[in-house]
Amino acid sequence: MITIDGSEGEGGGQVLRYSAALSLLTGEPFTIQNIRGGRAKPGLMRQHVTALEAACAIGGAECSGLTVGASELTFRPGSVTPGEYHFAVGTAGSTGLVLQTVLVPLMLADAPSRLVIEGGTHAMAAPPFEFLQKTLLPVLERMGPKISITLERHGFFPRGGGRIVVDIDPAPLRPIECVTRGEFKAGKVEALVAGIPFDIADRELKAARKVLVEWPDEAFAPVQLPAENGPGNALLMEAEFDNVTEVMSGFGKLGVPAERLAKIAAKRMVGYLGSQAFSGPYLQDQLLLPFAMAGRGAFTTVKLSEHTRTAVNLIERFLGRGFRFSETADGAHLAEVR
Ligand code: AMP
Repeated sequence: MITIDGSEGEGGGQVLRYSAALSLLTGEPFTIQNIRGGRAKPGLMRQHVTALEAACAIGGAECSGLTVGASELTFRPGSVTPGEYHFAVGTAGSTGLVLQTVLVPLMLADAPSRLVIEGGTHAMAAPPFEFLQKTLLPVLERMGPKISITLERHGFFPRGGGRIVVDIDPAPLRPIECVTRGEFKAGKVEALVAGIPFDIADRELKAARKVLVEWPDEAFAPVQLPAENGPGNALLMEAEFDNVTEVMSGFGKLGVPAERLAKIAAKRMVGYLGSQAFSGPYLQDQLLLPFAMAGRGAFTTVKLSEHTRTAVNLIERFLGRGFRFSETADGAHLAEVR
């Protein structure tokens, strides 16, 4: 039984999701205290309960203390059973983060799975659908499994109601090297609006264009979604390289001017474009678990995030295997499984 302090490191939901995934992969039970102790509103939120319910469902696991607001729980894994599953967060809690909890165990299962997940698809502090589809999953597919993802309906904060479908065809994980990202091919920026004034999209695109000055006008496009999907707004920026496509995002929030949101997201993209790294600020922590399970492999990334340090720590505790980090000549950070 591994004991985890949920306030350590980044101190958020990732500690819990990573622990559950690692527990399913190793068969090692864990108990966690101070769940999300590093967050302003600690304890389990609806989306974390759903993520753990999903882990229990696919992994024949038992979990005590699984209620909204709980600050500790104990998780005892069973065996992973691939198949068809439906998980609904019931709020705008992230569908991508529910997926993050069960994805690697199902990628290594002995038969295919189909997951239908309902909740938020474009919400703050979580991977939006396009990031999963274009950034994360293509890298994971290079490791062997086939994974397809479909967006059936957008879901924004606070209403949720989004829906993704994920098909996972498992395979043993092959170690890969994601060290160079190759040549820049194209950039694209989309401003999504649903049930809110259309000029918000125009204002975001205008602000993003001022920062991404080298991208051509045709790269910027507003997208109007059906009003019943809203209210909602997301700004998605995509940089396609030979070996990776990085998606950066910003999400509309009451009280945050469209221009400010766009400027912050665009500057993050400029930071990534100015580096030579394969991974941006979010892909890095999401690659650690599959790379660790492959047993070898390496990738370069922009500056290491607190989420990455926290995930590495958990991987070491469950798998007894870690990562070695070093700086490359061009200022990127190399993460190697050791
Ligand atoms: P936590 O903050 O502990 O709930 O973990 C959030 C997770 O979502 C981490 O795996 C982050 O890398 C990921 N994440 C947060 N924001 C984004 C984003 N804009 N794009 C992609 N992934 C994200």
